[in-house]
Amino acid sequence: MHLHRFHGGLDLPGHKAESTAGGLRRLPPSARLYLSVLQHAGLPAEPCVAPGDSVARGQRIAIAEGGAGADLHSPVAGRVIAIEALPLPGTPGIEVPHVVIEPAPDGALQAQPALPEDADADALRARIRDAGIVGLGGAGFPTAGKLAAARATLVINGAECEPWIACDDALLREHADEVVRGARMMARASGASRVLLAVEDSMREAITACGEAVQAHGQDLVELVVVPTRYPEGGERQLIQVLTGQEVPRGGLPRDIGVIVLNVATVRAAWRAVVLGEALCERVVTVTGPGVARPGNFIVPLGTRVCDLVAHAGGYTPAARRLMLGGPMMGTALPHDGFAIGKTHNCVLVLGDADLRTAGDEMPCIRCGDCATACPSRLLPQQLHWQARAGRLDEARGQGLFDCIECGCCDLACPSHIPLTQQFRLAKGELLARDADAANAEAARQRFESRRERLEREAGEREARRAARKAAASPDAVAAALERARAKRAASDDAGDRP
Ligand code: SF4
Ligand code: SF4
Repeated sequence: MHLHRFHGGLDLPGHKAESTAGGLRRLPPSARLYLSVLQHAGLPAEPCVAPGDSVARGQRIAIAEGGAGADLHSPVAGRVIAIEALPLPGTPGIEVPHVVIEPAPDGALQAQPALPEDADADALRARIRDAGIVGLGGAGFPTAGKLAAARATLVINGAECEPWIACDDALLREHADEVVRGARMMARASGASRVLLAVEDSMREAITACGEAVQAHGQDLVELVVVPTRYPEGGERQLIQVLTGQEVPRGGLPRDIGVIVLNVATVRAAWRAVVLGEALCERVVTVTGPGVARPGNFIVPLGTRVCDLVAHAGGYTPAARRLMLGGPMMGTALPHDGFAIGKTHNCVLVLGDADLRTAGDEMPCIRCGDCATACPSRLLPQQLHWQARAGRLDEARGQGLFDCIECGCCDLACPSHIPLTQQFRLAKGELLARDADAANAEAARQRFESRRERLEREAGEREARRAARKAAASPDAVAAALERARAKRAASDDAGDRP
């Protein structure tokens, strides 16, 4: 297959080997699990259990609000001990309810009945929705919604481009057959006629496993494509360009060009939901970095706290300096390890001094253009930087600020050590807050207008009724009423005269 290139990007040193040697390890449930009701794109789910309730493994514990979001299920049998507002990683100051569950030693399992792999598309999507499946690559978009509209090409994303993150590599080495069988099923659920399974050339064992799985289960439909390892190729826009040569339009979505992209772990979770009746209750997480004693890839019950996960990986080493959720390029720095793992969290990374990117103080921009050369979104980061620094956020928006995927390539390329990505993230946040304020003001204006119209309409109706009553009481009307009364009396007198 002929492959294409995407603009910019970086060749980064790989660090997958540090965590993949030991294979997948299953983490036992911690003493308490903390399940956020917001583990997906969309609105928070609404808890449907209360403190004191017993729950089975796989039981629904929170329901998607108005269909926008995803249901949440208990990863263990146990007892709900609290519903507690707790902070989410990367959103300081924002707290959302967490269902806190204590596992019971021999609790029940609540699975759905199995469906055949060739069930019809509606049944597959309904099961995937009921199982709470969302994009496990990081976006958290509910998968059933993504599959709802028919697309010609389905891309299964195994291009895990960030250094250190190896959860998809580890999963493919051991479960490629479930991914390929899931890929067939996702094609049926979306109506896609072509399926491309993309794996990076640095993932040799995974490529071998995928090749065997395609031979066994998907030869007629699924094509394994080995793509060069270059960051950020795992971004869906970059991967689509590499595979098809097509660019997703600015401000658009892959579906606009007839493509959907699903992460390999998402596809496997969907396959298990259909064939085994399993809700999404666990995921593979890489725990790695020089600050961890025994890096590895773990099958982790959702709601496990980062501290418990690191303890299972042998604890922190003296080198530990910075804790991150996600990779070094796009991850979120954590202020402490009390946060819980959710559906979209693929990696816990503990960096040492030598790995920290902010070496050296920030200096003025020298207009070298290296950031633009590295930008995979074809933006001009130096111009965005000047606009953002001057507070001209609308101009920055006009220059494509929202097309920035926050990949960090410009930061790494910048010789002046300007924290460009952080600046763009803040600028986007400010614009979104401003948009939300404007939307609220517009909604308030519309409410005021419709109230004013209603009051005017009601006043008009009252006036019309008053006029009608007045008209009914006019001299002519009075005379007519008297005449009617006389006629009625006369009629009854006539009736009384009859023998
Ligand atoms: S962070 Fe944004 S501006 Fe910088 S290289 Fe990535 S996409 Fe381009
Ligand atoms: S790489 Fe840094 S110094 Fe060079 S143009 Fe971009 S922002 Fe300026």
